[in-house]
Amino acid sequence: MDQLNSRAYLDLWEALDAQLDAVHARNGLGGALWSLHEHQVQSGFIQDDLSSLRRFLLPCPTDPERGFSAQFNPARGRRFRGAGPIQAADSDLSINGGCFLCAENIWWQQQGAEIGYRLRPAQGRYTAWMNPFPILPGHAVIASREHWPQHWQAPGGLSLHELTADLSTFSALLPGWLTFYNGVGAGASIPHHLHFHVVPRAPGYEIMPLEAAARRCPQSDRVLWDYPLSFMHWGGPHQQVLPEAQAWMAQWQAESGSEADATANIIASTSASADRLDLYFIPRHQRRFRGEGLAGIIGGFEALGEIVCSSAEDLRRLESGEVDYATVTSLLRHVSVAF
Ligand SMILES: [Zn+2]
Repeated sequence: MDQLNSRAYLDLWEALDAQLDAVHARNGLGGALWSLHEHQVQSGFIQDDLSSLRRFLLPCPTDPERGFSAQFNPARGRRFRGAGPIQAADSDLSINGGCFLCAENIWWQQQGAEIGYRLRPAQGRYTAWMNPFPILPGHAVIASREHWPQHWQAPGGLSLHELTADLSTFSALLPGWLTFYNGVGAGASIPHHLHFHVVPRAPGYEIMPLEAAARRCPQSDRVLWDYPLSFMHWGGPHQQVLPEAQAWMAQWQAESGSEADATANIIASTSASADRLDLYFIPRHQRRFRGEGLAGIIGGFEALGEIVCSSAEDLRRLESGEVDYATVTSLLRHVSVAF
């Protein structure tokens, strides 16, 4: 792309930001992200309409209150092309090894079709991009504008304290959505650039299995063993939940979280009425990033209780009933870390 086209891209971007800021002011951040989604379908960047996605419910055979689910989503199998650097067609244009989340690369990699929304909250340090491999319709990625590392332990990255605050900020602006952070070795497909996932809840996703487990123990609000994956949960008003969680995480970092390969999933969900934040912290181990028996990696969405499968072999096993409630229980148990 020559200088003239790059200028045109930047002009287009400024106009889109202004348009989306207006939608944001009128209909909230969720409305603005749906407008961005619409724009990205029109531009041709989003091509997968998820028509090939199939969902399989995996109820618990002994307790009707429990269950997991699995989705067959063949496009997701292609996303790990983002895990390593690629060769730029014109290496003069490439920065940071061709990183797929650096805006400077995105405009030449996607020939101008992909454009984001430069967000003003959280000190204006993030841009929202639509995920080309969505797990549900409207799935967006909120990435730092700077090429900061995903991992809080990496030099130059945000601290765990800061990135949890930023995730909670976006959750508060997206009532009813699921928002999550996947640490390096805990489902992050682009480990070298900080990003969060924000996903509108589709019908059938009103309460996910991890959330249901937290509700079964309303008094504890702390470590729960009523789920194959051990996790922490805090629920209540935003201004109360965030500092409580941050204080706990500081303690965790001083103890078991200080290990070099300690990582985590963090999930934040603000109620549709916007008066309650639920925050979940799932400690993980970088060497245990996938469960045994299925091809996929366990990230925040899987931790919530829906396994994402993309291979033909996984589809065969889902259709034949070989993958069931016990399979998912065992997958999650396999990556669970005591703390
Ligand atoms: Zn980058």
